[in-house]
Amino acid sequence: MKLTVLGCYGPYPIKGGSCSGYLIEEDQSKILLDCGNGVFSNYQKNFSLEDLDAIILSHLHPDHISDIFILRYALEFRKKSIKIFAPNNPHEEFIRLFHKSYEISIIDSKKSFKIGNMMIHFEKMNHVVPDYAICIEANGKKLVYSGDTSYTQKLIDFSKNADFLLCEAGVLEKDLVNTPPHLSPEQAVEIGERANAKRIMLTHFYPEYSLKMYKEEIGKKEIEYAEEMKTVII
Ligand SMILES: [Zn+2]
Ligand SMILES: [Zn+2]
Repeated sequence: MKLTVLGCYGPYPIKGGSCSGYLIEEDQSKILLDCGNGVFSNYQKNFSLEDLDAIILSHLHPDHISDIFILRYALEFRKKSIKIFAPNNPHEEFIRLFHKSYEISIIDSKKSFKIGNMMIHFEKMNHVVPDYAICIEANGKKLVYSGDTSYTQKLIDFSKNADFLLCEAGVLEKDLVNTPPHLSPEQAVEIGERANAKRIMLTHFYPEYSLKMYKEEIGKKEIEYAEEMKTVII
């Protein structure tokens, strides 16, 4: 499996940056996890829209879905149909997603999907709106993406023995007093360690904080950091 980061900021980007978007490639199949602002532009740097099989939206916050509203104009010219997977809540946001360019399937933690060789599972997290962590299994490898969430045992259980955990770290330790619906770097790493994940990559960086601030909270641990257009092999 191959992961390319197309955007890694939230809830808004740094200058010239993009919000959440991660391309997963396995054999000939391509799935986009989240489609925040700037992601479609970055996608086109290395990939063709004709090759994209599906888009999975972890939740319906603008920093994870806003490029869907412009991507659909490009999809009108596409020959193949494309599948979009999304939670159906909040209802008014879900309704806004409807468009003739694609078909939408509703995400449910009890349902799994197969796209190419990839088996895809979901688990509901703790966020302001319903958010689903996404697990992709293919060729004996397991990748988990957290979406946005506060600390939850469910993410530890869902990420058990993952080869790769792509985990949000939207806040710093000092922000936890206000019980934000996000994880600090230390919490994200703790989740990965308790799940026995082989690799952990932090993402969803707050644009007002520098990467150095995130790194200082982690210390010397072997952690990876999302970076736009960075590709990793899992
Ligand atoms: Zn977000
Ligand atoms: Zn969110």
